[in-house]
Amino acid sequence: MPYKKLIDGFHLFQKEYTSSEKGAYYKKLIGREQKPETLVIACSDSRIDPAILTHSDPGEFFGIRNVAALVPPYNNAGLLRGTSSAIEYAVRHLEIKHIVILGHEGCGGVNALATGNYQATSNHNYQFLHHWLDIGAKAKEEVSHKLHDAQDEVKTRALEQATILVSMENLLSFPWIKDKCDREELQIHGWYFDKSEGQLLEYNAKNELFEKVGDSEAAPFFLKDKPNLNTFLKNYMQNCACRTKS
Ligand SMILES: [Zn+2]
Repeated sequence: MPYKKLIDGFHLFQKEYTSSEKGAYYKKLIGREQKPETLVIACSDSRIDPAILTHSDPGEFFGIRNVAALVPPYNNAGLLRGTSSAIEYAVRHLEIKHIVILGHEGCGGVNALATGNYQATSNHNYQFLHHWLDIGAKAKEEVSHKLHDAQDEVKTRALEQATILVSMENLLSFPWIKDKCDREELQIHGWYFDKSEGQLLEYNAKNELFEKVGDSEAAPFFLKDKPNLNTFLKNYMQNCACRTKS
């Protein structure tokens, strides 16, 4: 897509937001502090835009986008942490009520994690990607262990979904997120956009699987007596493997 289209697009936006009904909405919005109720953490993939997927207007959610929609574990070691800083702002300042991790089918970042193609080699010499994608290493281990006989397509999908679970669990390693979840002031959701099928799936903690959003109310991810990541990743893999066989 040509760069110029972005400039032309801005002019259309400017027209729409200064002269129409949307203009009034927008003016109201910029005159006060933002107050979104949801933080969406999505992949940077140019085909997966959470605002378009959810038909949202400006101001409706706080957004973070990064490679593979990953959340690192809590680590306050003073390094530069863009994703963690944005999460902190959303949770502690904006006091959002929901966090959505939005992963997707056909994720290049997850594929790189699966294949190891992001490692520094004489061809690529990547400097950052391998550290970042290693956040999903635990999910990769589980997929190789539990689904080693499955077809590549099944393994890829399982890894894409399992990395969402890793990010959800990592969110709970932030003490102020866990506190809010304990007090039921915050809910964490795992979404998986299947772009080939045009379907949105949500992680249902009761069945420990991703199911079509809206089919039934998904059980909340955070349960006080929930087992640790290793256990629930294993349960997910178990359910995933059973489904594959049926
Ligand atoms: Zn992606």
